[in-house]
Amino acid sequence: MLNQLMPPVFKYDVGNMKDLNERIKRWSDYDQIPKIELQDVIAGQDAILQLPKALQSLDVKAGRRVLVTMDETIILRKGEKLKEQVLKLLSEAGYAVEKLVLTGDEYGVVHADAKQVEKVKTHLDKTCAVVSVGSGTVTDISKHACFLYQNENKCERIPLISFMTANTVPAYTSRSSIITKDGVKRTWPSRTPNIVMMDVQTLMDCPLHYTVGGVGDLFPVFSAFADWYLADCMGTATVLDACWRIVDDIKDLLIPYMGEIANRTSVGMEVLGKCLLVTGLTMTFAQDSVPVSGYEHVISHLLDMSANYDKRKTGVHGQQVGEADILALINMEKLISGIDKKLADGGIDIDKCYPSADEMQEKVLQTFLPIDPTGKMGRECWNDYSQKLKSWNDNRPKFEDFLKNWPKHRAILTELLPHSALACARALNKAKHPLLFNELDAPITEERFRWAMRCANLMRKRFTSADLTFFLGWYNMKWEDEIIDRYYEIVKTVRAESSSDAH
Ligand SMILES: [Zn+2]
Repeated sequence: MLNQLMPPVFKYDVGNMKDLNERIKRWSDYDQIPKIELQDVIAGQDAILQLPKALQSLDVKAGRRVLVTMDETIILRKGEKLKEQVLKLLSEAGYAVEKLVLTGDEYGVVHADAKQVEKVKTHLDKTCAVVSVGSGTVTDISKHACFLYQNENKCERIPLISFMTANTVPAYTSRSSIITKDGVKRTWPSRTPNIVMMDVQTLMDCPLHYTVGGVGDLFPVFSAFADWYLADCMGTATVLDACWRIVDDIKDLLIPYMGEIANRTSVGMEVLGKCLLVTGLTMTFAQDSVPVSGYEHVISHLLDMSANYDKRKTGVHGQQVGEADILALINMEKLISGIDKKLADGGIDIDKCYPSADEMQEKVLQTFLPIDPTGKMGRECWNDYSQKLKSWNDNRPKFEDFLKNWPKHRAILTELLPHSALACARALNKAKHPLLFNELDAPITEERFRWAMRCANLMRKRFTSADLTFFLGWYNMKWEDEIIDRYYEIVKTVRAESSSDAH
């Protein structure tokens, strides 16, 4: 049994928040990072049974009204309807349970938008507690409704418990919520739940295509820090070491446990779940989603923004992110070797890296006009993009300095990119994550993926490798073809390896 996998040892175990808080207190930069709001994560095979106790620990006594938010999806736990089990457990514990079902679009998909947030908000009062039973969307809507209600009514935090129904997104522990505005996905400051319930049985019973979405949504850890570092070099952001440290377990455990995750064993679900919850903490420290949301996320956001126009349903977020992450890593690898080559051979013409605001405004508006003829989407994007363009212009000396000190920056970037595009694709494949565009839960054409990759930089103010590629003037059809060719080559390699492993 030489290859036997040891039980996972977490450095920062969200399942033991007390210990985790003690550990991070020893960090020298502890005083500079925001405190973790999340009080507890109740993890375990049958954690569901501890739900009433969790409410009591928040001083929510029997008899109080508990609003249970959910969508229409039927979720089975050991063959029984999970949501009914939750409602029953709470009523039996003496709570006045109110069920609130959020209804979806024509495909049954609930979107996290202002309307849904408002709907939950109208059911809140100063004495209720909320239990959200769902994954990213239901969690974000519930978090944000509580957050807005508390602010508007200047009242205490509404006790909020988030019951994870899928290992899909970091939303459970993140202090921000992704809520759509004018058809554009935006991250808003929000709150975390008081307690997250991680019922391992529920996660094991969750359909594989959602679970692989959770896997996909973790891969930005291996690329977005490098994007963030680039933004830091260009003077538009500040990287925090604590954010990189708190994701140590993701760096150490995620890939080795891929087989367990793919088989949805209890240990696999525990590793995946805890890794996802940790990404919420890194975002809390950054007070932003930046540590785990770079170029790959904007590609995914653009895929969502074009879904309506393409008449396709919006796909599982993490799956899109997982595939987009391979593309983002290929772009990053090309970018680094491109800078190496250019600097070795004549340098970079910096004057050419600064397009005018007029030119870019036209480009942004024209890019989104076909998918939203009202022009609202384009204006919302330009509103954000113009801020990035301005700071890129204002910080020209930073870019000059970046190129002058390229070897130093290159070394740091390499450190922040622990796995190559090929290694990530290999791990995703092991997790049974889709690798081709048409294999996604909501299949997407190569053409649409190319568009999202090409236009991603135009959507928001966060600077990523996509912006640097664009400002350098390197993103053209040849560059794009090379990325796509490399992508297919990687997929072919990985698939060939796994079929030879199987024989
Ligand atoms: Zn994500």
